[in-house]
Amino acid sequence: MNQQGHMESYGQPQPGYQGYQQFAYNNQHTAGVPTSQYGPYNGPVQGYEPTAAPQGPLRPTSGAPPTSLPPSTAAQSTAYNQYGQGDIQNGPAMTDQMQRFPVSQSYMPGGQPIAYQQYAPSPSNAQHLPNQMAAMQISGSTSNAPPPVSQSYGPPTSHRQTTASFPPTGPAVYTQYSTPLQNISSSIPQAGNPPQHPFPGQTVPASTYTSPPTSTGLTGMNLPPPPGVSRPTAMHGPPLPGQSQTGFPPSQPPTGHYPPQPNHRPAAPQTGMPGVVPGPPTQGFQVHPTQPSQGFIPQQNGSFGQMRAPQPNYAAPYTGTPSYSSQPQSQQKRLDPDSIPSPLNELPPQQKTRHRIDPDAIPSPIQVIEDDKSNRGSEPFSTGVRGQVPPLVTTDFVVKDQGNSSPRFIRCAAYNLPCTSDMAKQCQVPLTAVIKPLATLPADEAPPYIVDHGETGPIRCNRCKAYMCPYMQFIEGGRRFQCAFCSCVTEVLPHYFQHLDHTGKRMDYYDRPELSLGSYEFLATVDYCKNNKIPNPPAFIFMIDVSYNALKSGLVHLLCEELKTLLDYLPREGNAEESAIRVGFVTYNKVLHFYNVKSSLAQPQMMVVSDIADMFVPLLDGFLVNVNESRAVINSLLEQIPEMFGDTRETETVFGPVIQAGLEALKAAECAGKLFIFHSTLPLAEAPGKLKNRDDKKLINTDKEKVLFQPQTNFYSNLAKECVARGCCVDLFLFPNQYVDVATLGLVTYQTGGSVYKYTYFQAQADGERFLNDLHRDVRKVIGFDSVMRVRTSTGIRATDFFGSFYMSNTTDVELAALDCDKAITVEFKHDDKLNEDNGAQIQCALLYTSCSGQRRLRIHNLSLNCCTQLADLYRNCETDTLINYFVKLAYRGVLSNPTKTVRETLINQSAQILACYRKNCASPSSAGQLILPECMKLLPVYLNCVLKNDVLQPSAEVSTDDRAYTRQLAISMDVAETSVFFYPRLLPVHKMDVDSDDFPVAIRCSEERLSKGGIYLLENGLNLFIWVGMNTQHDLIQSIFNVQSFGQIDSAMSALPLLDNPYSKKLRSMVDMIRAQRPRFMKLMIVKQDDKMEVLFKHFLMEDKSASGGASYVDFLCHMHKEIRQLLS
Ligand SMILES: [Zn+2]
Repeated sequence: MNQQGHMESYGQPQPGYQGYQQFAYNNQHTAGVPTSQYGPYNGPVQGYEPTAAPQGPLRPTSGAPPTSLPPSTAAQSTAYNQYGQGDIQNGPAMTDQMQRFPVSQSYMPGGQPIAYQQYAPSPSNAQHLPNQMAAMQISGSTSNAPPPVSQSYGPPTSHRQTTASFPPTGPAVYTQYSTPLQNISSSIPQAGNPPQHPFPGQTVPASTYTSPPTSTGLTGMNLPPPPGVSRPTAMHGPPLPGQSQTGFPPSQPPTGHYPPQPNHRPAAPQTGMPGVVPGPPTQGFQVHPTQPSQGFIPQQNGSFGQMRAPQPNYAAPYTGTPSYSSQPQSQQKRLDPDSIPSPLNELPPQQKTRHRIDPDAIPSPIQVIEDDKSNRGSEPFSTGVRGQVPPLVTTDFVVKDQGNSSPRFIRCAAYNLPCTSDMAKQCQVPLTAVIKPLATLPADEAPPYIVDHGETGPIRCNRCKAYMCPYMQFIEGGRRFQCAFCSCVTEVLPHYFQHLDHTGKRMDYYDRPELSLGSYEFLATVDYCKNNKIPNPPAFIFMIDVSYNALKSGLVHLLCEELKTLLDYLPREGNAEESAIRVGFVTYNKVLHFYNVKSSLAQPQMMVVSDIADMFVPLLDGFLVNVNESRAVINSLLEQIPEMFGDTRETETVFGPVIQAGLEALKAAECAGKLFIFHSTLPLAEAPGKLKNRDDKKLINTDKEKVLFQPQTNFYSNLAKECVARGCCVDLFLFPNQYVDVATLGLVTYQTGGSVYKYTYFQAQADGERFLNDLHRDVRKVIGFDSVMRVRTSTGIRATDFFGSFYMSNTTDVELAALDCDKAITVEFKHDDKLNEDNGAQIQCALLYTSCSGQRRLRIHNLSLNCCTQLADLYRNCETDTLINYFVKLAYRGVLSNPTKTVRETLINQSAQILACYRKNCASPSSAGQLILPECMKLLPVYLNCVLKNDVLQPSAEVSTDDRAYTRQLAISMDVAETSVFFYPRLLPVHKMDVDSDDFPVAIRCSEERLSKGGIYLLENGLNLFIWVGMNTQHDLIQSIFNVQSFGQIDSAMSALPLLDNPYSKKLRSMVDMIRAQRPRFMKLMIVKQDDKMEVLFKHFLMEDKSASGGASYVDFLCHMHKEIRQLLS
């Protein structure tokens, strides 16, 4: 396999294989011309014409490029091509991409099909609402409505039957299946492994766990509080014991950290948010419950304009928030507290005048989370019913697949879609799904079964190429089936024929996953492989920066030592004894060093490539090797690397040639794979992809701020395209001591489905644990290579936009050099026709990938949704966490081409329209002064505010440009559980933990006034983990946890809790371990003492408070949203 020959054969279209247009090496993509890299993925082209009418009969072979676009898409793909004009999906400098901002712009500028212009909401749209809609009330038809019609796609009632016939370990029933996927993970060795891990497939070294996690869920706080555990007292009730309402005993004067606010003006507490709630005397806030048993009980159907005394941190003017474009307001427009009816009217008059909105009286995230846990955590979630809203991501629940995919794979913002685009436009609720195709399931849920249809491959619709699924309708005695996506009728091949029972169901319904389950896999045939060749097993290449900084920090030594054992944990297939993945090693500074670690060698051989302008791989044989065969040589190499470079004075590095080298090596080996690059500095050395320091914080809040998020050169976007075409995924571990330009260095990672990790000021001693845990998980996790994802939909809607870490060269295929179990892709759908309530809407996500052993597979996820003609049905079946996930990704892509101010305003505007539409069409008539929120979206304001205040959209002074780019990149591939906790952290009162129980204490709201001086709290958001200690904490508790006698003696520099043999220490350490196990990234523990200088870091995460960067408090923001909504309604 010589390199040149390989390239030639790879670039040539194969006979009978049209459409597999290979990315030509050194060629440019033609802008706007969709290329399909994976023709066969869309099926061997037979009788398919892309522009065929949706309902028409089968057409003869047209010879058109194979594509399974819905017909209208194919016809319009060029005009509608938002990716074809630039290199990068979600990427930099795409001037067209953010044309969606602001919302009121047309969806696609210029040359846009008329069909899409209707998505441009006219500002006055709300005023044209039909009268009958405006008069509609939430009453019998909404809040007391029966559950959605049971359009069951799964087994009607025989739930047990399904599960019984799919034994997780016994393939006896399915002779056609191969090994269940779960074996991939369970086969990871060995003695000393952690006993039980909530993430099968991501076992982490035993040393990480001091106690086995018992949680099997993906989310935190796994169990409902036991009887007797008090509800979060912070919510409605009196202050916590030992906790005053202001967070500190009144007898304690505010310390230096809690200065009295100069603008605390009793007469006008709303100075910062003036003119918010003027209105008739009946005004207030309302939340409309959708289910009688759920919701915000104390305020149910009532106003919650309760007031109470101003808090120390409150009543500062609403400064530093240019995004709200609030004009100076006249005095008379200011909120008059006395005009808000509430229990405060019974208070003495002198208190009344100083009152404001009570934080306890506005919707509480904690109560919503706890209510969902107690209402929905006990019963399994069965997916047989169409359009069911799943429990929240924070609820621990078991899923039973009965014909729709688990919410662990797909979550939607709306489970009841509006039938028409007019309704969608009116309500502005984005129709979006967050798809995590390779999500890890808890141990008690069976992984998707693998279906092998032999040489003929998966059964598919002839026209749209949708895969066989529970929604396909068999007709004519089972000889044909009608597609649920395009209605085309397809012949059933003889080998797949089966008789139907009296209900029209195939007799083998329960025996075939593709007929009865929402998620399953097909073994792909050679038609689904590049060049019609079964792929080689993938390779991992470790590429280590050996410049001065990397050596000095201890990184190189630590990494080389760890690799000796880590290589035993490479992903392996099923019951395979060893991993099929081959490994290779490169070190570099200004030049690259390749190593020959062939098993026959006594010592590794180094080959230096100093001509980095035109990178090539100096050796083929012996570079990528089997770990077991070459173990002695590899170990010798890993011993020698730190010694060889120990005295280096070289401070300059290259970066572009490193990726090029890895790419060339994979090309030469004709395999997909992953590069693990460990890199420390800005690549200043003369080489392709050389960068300069262009950091400039002065650009913040200017129109040029977007430049900070864009790459500084096109070099890496071109390189990324090549990597994607070759299935070369790049994971980047950064160890910077200063600006390294994450926005540019991370680009290839971002577009190849890789992960970036950043360890600023890395020191092996202090940060080694975090780095090694991340590395272990990253190397070992379930991953698919050389992937393409396609989302098909039933007639009426289609996927129009995608967010995540991937590349798109056309409008429909999401190309991923690799996709791992942690990565989610957010998809937005738009109408292209009417939907109807009877048929609902169907979504099918198909992921074609190469497994870690080189097996080509298709993972299929199906989801069916309801459709409605009444907007109230839509608002009752929404999921705010998913909505927020979409908003985050929309905003974080938006900052590439828009000022952050514009992005913030766009989010506020769209959210206000969503809530105003509800108010106008679904809420009972009431005073315009009332803020009325739909039950399912009552947390939208608080969560939205968290997104607006995040470092990417509104950075505080100390946040670096690299950190912002890093956060942006992380968030864009987060799933719903991750965005949920990242934007609204979990804050647990440690002093309230029950040492005799496995449960966590009930979380409290993220606000300083909820903290007690006598308490200890744990805060985590998936990236950061703090333990905050109040200065009045009991000495006994301090002794039990920190092993010192007093608050003053606690060493806040400690990065791990001391191992003490008492129940408090054990319980807290176990909580920390469990929380870490629930998150994809290891969180380093930081101890923060009250009033310590580090406290400002901690306070940054108290999301309900006003932020140092000028972000609004929750109360202020809710008032602001109320004002926006009122403006839309007036
Ligand atoms: Zn079809």
